[in-house]
Amino acid sequence: MESEIITTDMIIIGTGPVGLFAIFEAGLLGLKCHLIDNLDRPGGQCTELYPEKPIYDIPSRPHVTGQQLVEDLMTQASPFDPTFHLGQQAETLEKMASGHWRVTTTRGVIIDAPIIVVAVGAGSFVPKKPPYGKRAEFEQKSIDYAVHKMEKYRDKRLVIVGGGDSALDWAITLFPLAKRVTLIHRRREFRGSQDSVQRLHDLTTAGSLDVVYGNITDLIGDDGQLSKVAVTLLDGEIQHIDCDYLLPFMGLKVKLGPIAEWGLNLDKKHVAVDPETFETTQQGIYAIGDVCTYPGKIKLILTGFYEAAVMTRSAFRYAYPDRKITAGYTTTNSALQQRLGITDK
Ligand SMILES: Cc1cc2nc3c(=O)[nH]c(=O)nc-3n(C[C@H](O)[C@H](O)[C@H](O)COP(=O)(O)OP(=O)(O)OC[C@H]3O[C@@H](n4cnc5c(N)ncnc54)[C@H](O)[C@@H]3O)c2cc1C
Repeated sequence: MESEIITTDMIIIGTGPVGLFAIFEAGLLGLKCHLIDNLDRPGGQCTELYPEKPIYDIPSRPHVTGQQLVEDLMTQASPFDPTFHLGQQAETLEKMASGHWRVTTTRGVIIDAPIIVVAVGAGSFVPKKPPYGKRAEFEQKSIDYAVHKMEKYRDKRLVIVGGGDSALDWAITLFPLAKRVTLIHRRREFRGSQDSVQRLHDLTTAGSLDVVYGNITDLIGDDGQLSKVAVTLLDGEIQHIDCDYLLPFMGLKVKLGPIAEWGLNLDKKHVAVDPETFETTQQGIYAIGDVCTYPGKIKLILTGFYEAAVMTRSAFRYAYPDRKITAGYTTTNSALQQRLGITDK
């Protein structure tokens, strides 16, 4: 079956803080956005790398955590009804005869638009893969690095590996659904939040899930399907644990990925842009946030917000030269307020 082709005004690649703010700026001009992110939740570096750390240099916010900033950006963007395609990478880019661009994702979603916004930060966060000898043999059927559908794990024996927030959160979330969850960590101290560590402790004490301290040293199964993993415990003893699915959460690394092949003007893994428009060397393709470079660039969230505001206006003029731009203040302009869904002032 052929995939349906989605058409929109703007495709934003990357849902970090800068991509999220671009939805708001585009929405004020009446532009609809589809967003793509490799991760399964929006927020980029803020939610992946420092969700609970305070940021002190967002104008008018004396301090705000990475997670709270992302939640507020989502709320601010919500009147414009953006569509998110999460858990998939923007993989290929083609120029259509119409002059529009077409992006296809790693999950086969196809989107056409006159405007592409590259807001990919340092690139896609990709999972670090564990060094198990037979990993490739089981990767197709039995090893998952992200949870896309929890239902897949109903009544299954799950082995989760890691000591950070992702490993702890998924062990706690999946144990009511799974037949059995075993969390394996290479040392006794966890890096996850205090709340999660306490919850894990309560659940293991109650016998609801198992925690094993050691390293996986062998994968056992047939035809790509795991049946057990062998763990060398901290005291050297070997323990075999039943396993249908192995879920390693061993951190993320960042890779620029397919964007590097898109013919954009790259300067040391950054995309060179015109600082008056944030357009790249390809007409209709813009780059904002940490990924873009120009003389005087500062890699901060506030700079990315400014870039989003300038970029949307210049992209609007390029894509819709016959339409009038709605200029003015959100405080006083009723057309802007209508777009924001504000009915009483
Ligand atoms: C520990 C730490 C503390 C920080 N503190 C501050 C601070 O106090 N103040 C401040 O201003 N800045 C701070 N920063 C920097 C700030 O987080 C970045 O400037 C900001 O996140 C950049 O936003 P962005 O939207 O450009 O990119 P990112 O936040 O990096 O988001 C990019 C998104 O694009 C996605 N992506 C990449 N390639 C693809 C692809 N091909 N397909 C689909 N998705 C893709 C990624 O998965 C990611 O979600 C800090 C950074 C760190 C690591």
